[in-house]
Parts: sequence; structure tokens; C-alpha cells
Amino acid sequence: MSAKFENGSLTILNPITNNAIETIKVSDITLIDKIINDAKTDIRWSDLSLNKRCYYINKFRKQLVKNKDILHKTLKDETGKTDFDILIEIFTSLEHLKEITKIAKKALKTSSRSSGLMKVKKAYVKYEPLGVAGVISPWNYPLATPITSVVEALLAGNKVVLKPSEHTPLTSILVKKIWDEQIGFNKSFQILIGGGEVGSYLVESRNIDIICFTGSTAVGKIIASQCAKTLKPNILELGGKDPMIILKDANLNRSVESALFGGMSNAGQTCISTEEVFIEDPIYDRFVDKISKRIKTLKSGKDKSSDLGSMIMPENTSKVNRHIDEARKSCRIIQGGVEDNTMFIPPTLVLEPDEDLPIVNEETFGPVISLRSFSNEDELLEKIHKTGYGLSASIFGKDTTRIHSIIKSIKTGNISINDVLTHYGIASIPFGGEGLSGVGRMHGKEGLRSLCRIKSVVENRFNFINEMWWFGRSNKIEALLNKAIKLLYR
Ligand code: NAD
Repeated sequence: MSAKFENGSLTILNPITNNAIETIKVSDITLIDKIINDAKTDIRWSDLSLNKRCYYINKFRKQLVKNKDILHKTLKDETGKTDFDILIEIFTSLEHLKEITKIAKKALKTSSRSSGLMKVKKAYVKYEPLGVAGVISPWNYPLATPITSVVEALLAGNKVVLKPSEHTPLTSILVKKIWDEQIGFNKSFQILIGGGEVGSYLVESRNIDIICFTGSTAVGKIIASQCAKTLKPNILELGGKDPMIILKDANLNRSVESALFGGMSNAGQTCISTEEVFIEDPIYDRFVDKISKRIKTLKSGKDKSSDLGSMIMPENTSKVNRHIDEARKSCRIIQGGVEDNTMFIPPTLVLEPDEDLPIVNEETFGPVISLRSFSNEDELLEKIHKTGYGLSASIFGKDTTRIHSIIKSIKTGNISINDVLTHYGIASIPFGGEGLSGVGRMHGKEGLRSLCRIKSVVENRFNFINEMWWFGRSNKIEALLNKAIKLLYR
């Protein structure tokens, strides 16, 4: 366990040493309604102008920068990640906050629309806050995942109640402390501590107006069915099994390095990790030869020279080891180095796994990539869609016509060409999946707007006459409309 519940308290353990880092109080279920209600009734934040909200989020970002070292330490303690993985997480979060604030200024202001033929009408769209957003987050990116959802919801004018993962809540607690001390609006951004039952309570609350959930597909399905009871809006960012496609004309060096970075950074505990690589027949042997040599130069461990850090959750570590062990019975496995500690898993390649293995059919969520060859595109598409996940994919090659023809048939929310992972770091593009990877989008103007009540307004430019199609209309109106149909819509 990386967290232990006992007598209404939660003790967070360092995953590498198993030592207790801190014991915190679990949110008392009888007080949760009050916390949510405080957020609901606090209108100071939602009454701010969009410009003012952006001002406070920029100020918040600057305060996070001032607290970078303590954020780094907290992330290190509760995840055991490498320093570089933590740096990337902090960097990506800050870049997101800066860019999404600029995007919000345009995306959330009232948008004037064409009124078509009805020139006497003004048509426009207002992006209003929904109320209180319930944000529920997982343990793999304790800073980036909650903070991007929280800030997007706040920019949209919502208040937020965040329930971070019970395994890594300390970063969120620190973020909330920085918010309270430096920004104020304490009731507009609240935090609940606890496990699934606290998350579930949040989902069920009548005072929560939208759920932004990031986590497993299994829990996402439960939340979707709970939300269905009242048709509560929900954005579900779930698991993935991201494929990487290496076409025969791909740059070998870039595709090998991308596969390794896509699959191994953050010790593979990333929803958009590259989990399976499909290599076109003519370059399969050369690709396998190069990546096999390269993986042996990487290692997992806690010393500074390690490329991969610790696994964060013991349960997940067992699952990843089970995937490797099952595969070992029938396939060739090639591994890099590893420190002698149960929470480290060596960077691992699985060659040509059988179709029925867990490594082919389930999200692995660890530093493991399977390699398979393909000879034609139909076979490739069938294999990459087999799991039902549809988060991201990447494709490598030089023939852009062919690449675009293939990506037209790939059912994922995100795709990278000759690149991997970076799409998550570009705040202007929507992020999300389909199929078992979820519904809805965060990021970009699409994500911001999905956190709003999108209110379409029509207003008359002149109010002194009745509309010509109302009752009591002239006999000529029918003829006029018939004529208009022939003239305008041929
Ligand atoms: P999880 O689903 O077990 O838990 C996620 C959160 O949901 C936690 O805070 C947990 O306490 C809470 N929760 C558990 N049961 C609940 C319930 N019944 N009702 C409400 N909340 C409940 O996921 P995890 O193990 O923390 O995270 C790993 C998963 O998250 C992986 O599948 C990964 O792919 C996915 N993930 C997806 C994205 C994305 O953007 N698509 C990003 C990061 C992680």
C-alpha cells in the first residue's frame, strides 16, 4: 500500500522506502455537504470578470513557481519519480496554466454569431459557469492532472471541489495551501481527502454540477452510470493502450528513441504511454535490433544516473509484473537494468506477444512495450483497435500522404506524427479519448467550453413590430416563403 487508512486518518507512504511521510485526516462524510455547499454559495469567484479570473490564475502560477522546490520535494516523496520526470511534470503544468489562461480570454468571452437570413436579430453565445465542478484525480501525475482540471474549471467561472487520489494527496494539499495563502477565494477551491467512497459521494451530490474524472476505465463506468441518473454532465479521461506505428520509411533512430521515451518516461505510468509498437515488416528486424541494444543502456532505480524512477502503487506494480511474467512463458523478453527493490521494474520489451496475453489486451501502465510486426494496413488497424481503448496514437514515416490516409482510420482522440507524448503539453488542442478511454475533452477552447453552460441568446434589434410569421400574418407570407425557398436554397 502507498496509503493506509486507519481510524479516520490516511497515512501516505514513500513508495521506495515504505516509510510514512505524513498522516492526514480523511474528510468527514458528515462535513462534505457543508464543504460542497460552501463552494456552491460562494459567489465571489463566479462573479469575477473573465479578465479578473485570468489575473488570479496568472498570479497563482507565479506563486507555484516560487514554491517549485517544495512542490518538487512533495512529488518526490509521494511518487518516487526521477527528478527529471518531476521537472517535466512541473514544467508541463506551468506551461498549461500560462497558455490556457490566454486561450480562456478568447474562448470564454461572449461570441457573436451570424443570424443568417434574420438580419433583424442579434445572435450570440454566452459561456457561463455551471456552478461547482467535482474534480477527481488519479495518482500518476499528482500535480499536472488535478491542477489542469482545477484551473480550467476555475477559468470557466466554476467553483471546484477536488478529490485527489488517496495514494498521492500531498501535492494537492500543498497546491490548495498556496491558493489559500496567496490567492484567497478559499471556498471557491476546496479539497476532499479520502478514497472511492468520498469520490462517489461527490459524484452523487446534488450540489455538484459537473464531474471531471481522470482515472481508470472501471471507475469511469461507475461514475458514468451514477451521473446518468440525473444526466449530470461528466468528462471522463480514462485509461489507454496507446499504439505507435513505425512505417517502413520511418527514421529509425527517431522512432526507436520515441518508442523508448513514450513507453518508459514516468516509468510508463502515463495514460498516453506508448504500450504497443507496430513495425512494418521490411524494417522490423533493424528496429528490433536497435531498440534491443538501446534498452539495455537504460535502468530503473533511485540513484541520480537512473533513467526510470519508482513505481508509485504496489498494486499496479504487481499487475505490471504479472503482464511481464505471463508474456515470459511464450515470448522473448529484453530488459534493461534495475535496482534491487520491489518497487522498480526494469525497462522491458516483449517481442511478438500472443494475441490472448494480458499485455495485448489490458492497459499495462508500467515500463513495458510490446513489439509486433505488420504487413498491411487492415491487419494493423484491426490490432490497434482490438482493446477498445482510444486515447492517443503516434505514427512514424516520411510519406505524409500515406500517414494521413492511415490516421483517418484510427479511432483515437489524439495523434502525433513523428512525435510522441508532446500533444498533452500543448494547451490549445483538446485532450481526451473515445471508446474505453472516455468521453468529453479537457484543454483548448473545446475543453474550456465543455465546463460551461453554453447559452445561446437571440435578441431583436428592433422590438416595435410583430414577426411576420406570427398569427394574424398577411396572406402574402406563404407565397413569400415559397419564393424564398426556390430562390435561396437551390
Ligand atoms: P482509479 O480509477 O482507481 O482512481 C482514480 C480516482 O477515482 C481516485 O481519486 C479514486 O479515489 C477515485 N475513485 C475510486 N473509486 C471511485 C468511485 N466509485 N467513485 C468516485 N471516485 C472514485 O484510477 P487510478 O488507479 O488512480 O489511476 C490510474 C488510471 O488513470 C489508469 O487507468 C490511467 O490510464 C488513468 N489516467 C487517465 C488519464 C487521462 O487523461 N486519460 C490521465 C491519468 C491517468
